[in-house]
Amino acid sequence: MRSFRGGPDTWFYSTPLNQAGPVILPRGVLIEVRAGRRLEIVADPLKKVPGSANGEFFVDRTCIACETCAQLAPEIFEEAGEFFQVRRQPVTREEIRCATRALLACPVGAIGTLHRNHAKAVMHDFPLRIDGCVYYCGFNSRKSFGANSYFVAHPNGNWLVDSPRFTPHLVHRFEAMGGIRYIFLTHQDDVADAAKFASHFRAARIIHHADSPAQRDAEVVLDSAAPAVIEPGFRIIPTPGHTRGHCVMLYEERFLFTGDHLWWEPDANRLGASRSACWYSWPAQTASMRRLLDETFEWLLPGHGDRCHLPPAVMLNELASLVDRMCA
Ligand code: SF4
Repeated sequence: MRSFRGGPDTWFYSTPLNQAGPVILPRGVLIEVRAGRRLEIVADPLKKVPGSANGEFFVDRTCIACETCAQLAPEIFEEAGEFFQVRRQPVTREEIRCATRALLACPVGAIGTLHRNHAKAVMHDFPLRIDGCVYYCGFNSRKSFGANSYFVAHPNGNWLVDSPRFTPHLVHRFEAMGGIRYIFLTHQDDVADAAKFASHFRAARIIHHADSPAQRDAEVVLDSAAPAVIEPGFRIIPTPGHTRGHCVMLYEERFLFTGDHLWWEPDANRLGASRSACWYSWPAQTASMRRLLDETFEWLLPGHGDRCHLPPAVMLNELASLVDRMCA
């Protein structure tokens, strides 16, 4: 039995559901089911980030500046000091769809619309195909500061790379796609709801020993500095630096899942890594980056920061330039 009460900006919701996740109210407002039975609306137009373009979509001041919205709809959302904001309102159907995907992916529900939206339909875009059998999950988690996570469909068993929110929609979609066999965790910061996915799908979580306190009961703990092949085509490469146990995963010499080791910087039009967000060792991260010069890949899929797709030779040149900058 579901019931609603409250004014236009305050909703209380009772539900028999015992799973956390997004729920869409009759007006099309997205709310997040939290631990208990009482829910509250998340995005509040009265707390709108000042400077946002007026109109249907807004960002409120619960934004944690994770950049997810700008990755999904760069024409619509932009950084504005400590928050992100609406740069301009979406106009075309495709722009509205991208902005609605951002609303669903936002880890804290800081994006809202003034009227009924199409979130319920757009939710079915997730997981969102990137290329071939590789997908972006959406539903970024606050627990990983909004890190991106990915799903790889494979005949020998599907992979989750880092963890989105454990939402009923994603669980059902992953079930329909054949479940999850492995959950590769790039590092300790981005485990989010990995334990819930592992329990539900009886999946094996894979993490490096040095970061394993974040997932003490992980099924596979890597303890070598050498790359490990878990399944043909899936090679996990230790890349200490951001954290001591950080690893990346190379899939089919095409897709490199990089966690917080490496990403694309669209404004500078180059690859990037952050010394200020390096929690373990910058010299170690630089050495890890240099070792990646031996690898071939065309897709770079990070936890934080932008994805990019470049011809392998161009990617290698960009990586060499980054190593030079890191050594300077
Ligand atoms: S996705 Fe949400 S929390 Fe992240 S920057 Fe955008 S509005 Fe802020």
